Amino acid sequence: MIDLDRVRADTPGCQEQVFLDSAGSSLPPEPVLAEVVGHLRREAEVGGYRAEAERAEDLAAGYQVAADFFGCAPTDVAFTDSATRSWLLGMSAVPLAAGDRILVSQVEYGSNAIALMQRAQECGATVELVPSAEDGSISVPALTAMLDERVKLVSVVHMPTNGGLVNPAKEIIDAAHQVGAIALLDACQTAGQRRVRLDELGADLISVTGRKWLRGPRGTGLLVVNPVAAPRLRPPLVDQHSADWTGLGEWTLRQDARVHELWESSIADRLGLIAALRYAGELGIDEIQAAVVARADFLRAELSALPGVTVHDLGTERGGIVTFTVAGVDGEEVKKALVDKNITLSVGGTTGALLDMTARGLAQVVRASPHYFVSQQQLVRFVAAVAEIAA
Ligand SMILES: *Cc1c(COP(=O)(O)O)cnc(C)c1O
Repeated sequence: MIDLDRVRADTPGCQEQVFLDSAGSSLPPEPVLAEVVGHLRREAEVGGYRAEAERAEDLAAGYQVAADFFGCAPTDVAFTDSATRSWLLGMSAVPLAAGDRILVSQVEYGSNAIALMQRAQECGATVELVPSAEDGSISVPALTAMLDERVKLVSVVHMPTNGGLVNPAKEIIDAAHQVGAIALLDACQTAGQRRVRLDELGADLISVTGRKWLRGPRGTGLLVVNPVAAPRLRPPLVDQHSADWTGLGEWTLRQDARVHELWESSIADRLGLIAALRYAGELGIDEIQAAVVARADFLRAELSALPGVTVHDLGTERGGIVTFTVAGVDGEEVKKALVDKNITLSVGGTTGALLDMTARGLAQVVRASPHYFVSQQQLVRFVAAVAEIAA
């Protein structure tokens, strides 16, 4: 069980405010804040190089912290500046040629889809849609029926940006591997709220953000690279950190996942992300998942009982994203009315998951994403506020 008093004490922003936007950008706990702010101060005192050197051991240990969290080796981890960056780096490193096929699902994330379509166009590959099962998750039988040896990349969104649905990642990844395709897992909405482990899922690439459920700083992310897939990847962007320059026309790429990193990065933010990973690891991901699922299930049940409110989450297995609309009230109006009551959440339009929103005839959804630090009284306060708006 998570010690609610302790985690709430670590989270000043959740005391008065009902914070329901951890799928957007969560509230970092005090240890994360202390790392980021403390390091910025130190950089101002001794300069960025000396400040970094002082933290060299902690920075090196960060790879092990991430490895423990994601069930991989420290050499399988690259620190980046966002989930999108991680996903783009992974996707761009997959060799593709004319006639190759790329499979995506209805809930593909907007930024992923755009980058993928552009890359496919450039190399003469095709992007094809895997049908959804009746419950809205990616249909594994339909995927299996589409597979042949021309499928080189299968994109798996673990949990979409616009709903609590959890896709059967392991089954999809296993299927992709039957034809030797690279399976790229977008774990942006799952990392930090439920188990995402390379040793359990077997994905080739996993992209993660810092600022959402992990409660890290903005501008941070991770790319986890399966060492089995690594030799097949062609990193598109390399620098003197990713490679050794040995002479004119001579360089040697790093053999580990850090080949995907650049030399320069925000050290303060990286220390903050490492602190966030430690914090989540100490709480225990299974405890976090139980707390998040309980809160989201409670909200779905309460909101769907309100007249004029429709809950839109698909899927059989569900996580911490709760989406709904209020009849006759624009999502932005709902959000604004809630902000006035010190309740924070997001509204999603069609761009984040265009295919899904269009297929379901949704122009927007209001998204509540309660993390483990939200108290029961706060959830009740939120439901009452929505009831008032709907009435
Ligand atoms: C938020 C989100 C992303 C992008 O994450 P960034 O850190 O903003 O790059 C990718 N995929 C999904 C499903 C998301 O919800």
